[in-house]
Amino acid sequence: MLFRPQYSEEFHCIGKRCRHNCCIGWEIDIDEETREYYRGVGGKLQKRLSIAIDDEGTPHFRLGRKERCPFLNRRNLCDIILTLGEGALCEICREHPRYYHTLSYGVEMGYGLCCEEAARIVLGEKEKVTLVSEEGLPPEIIDPWEEALYEARATVIGILTDRMSPLFSRIERLILLSGLTLPSFSESLALLERLEILSDSWKKLLLLAKEDDGEHPGFDRHMAERTVEYEQIGVYLAYRYLIAAFDEEVLSEEIAFIAWSLTLLYRLGSAIYRKKRRFRFTDAVELSRLFSSEIEYSTENREEILALLGRR
Ligand code: SF4
Repeated sequence: MLFRPQYSEEFHCIGKRCRHNCCIGWEIDIDEETREYYRGVGGKLQKRLSIAIDDEGTPHFRLGRKERCPFLNRRNLCDIILTLGEGALCEICREHPRYYHTLSYGVEMGYGLCCEEAARIVLGEKEKVTLVSEEGLPPEIIDPWEEALYEARATVIGILTDRMSPLFSRIERLILLSGLTLPSFSESLALLERLEILSDSWKKLLLLAKEDDGEHPGFDRHMAERTVEYEQIGVYLAYRYLIAAFDEEVLSEEIAFIAWSLTLLYRLGSAIYRKKRRFRFTDAVELSRLFSSEIEYSTENREEILALLGRR
């Protein structure tokens, strides 16, 4: 049984219109089955594949000029799809930006914020987000730990979607629930500067945020009608990470991670607002995408942050 967010049917890759194409800058691993298939395709493409794939460790595509996938052509279209069809893609290329959790009661899926189109859909959703299935049945949870996680997640989502409470009261309640304390903004920035930084935009943003004095009256007014964007990011993180926690400690860290991420995104948004005197919906989408690429999609960076949260 597949459970997916109610907005999932809206998602379609925007291909060459995408400004942050996922075929640029990411070293894509190739699953075994597809690697085997690529060995037998024959013709000119076979030759290109054998040059473009590095089999050392997990097979992956060697990035070309400007970190582009070697099969991304000048029109930003994929030569593998153009030659062999979509069915010839490796699992990561086929599924990105979807993520899946296989659980005792079925499979849950969602779309990762590191994709600009997914981020646009997630942040743009006005309704409270739930996971729905074609069969329309509630999950029958067999595993007791999963049941505990499911309930903990429902509590977290209940807090995040409590629209009668101001955003920062909801964040406070999450921190309380986690039993942890968040690092100060300057400690968080110091950690972020020590982590691996993937793009210049993130580096510049961290520098800009250093000037933040913690006062955001203009930004608070600017965002007063847009707290739903933060709610949606929090709910996305809750669906994505809480059900995968393997013990109580990790669960606490993951809840704190949601509170930390929302606080960070708010203050980074405020820094952008101070500089540009505006923070449009498109700025919020781009900031979420950037955060997701730099933090969420970097296992090492996210682990460092969870470790920092867990130590407190
Ligand atoms: S980042 Fe998203 S919209 Fe852009 S090319 Fe990748 S899947 Fe498509």
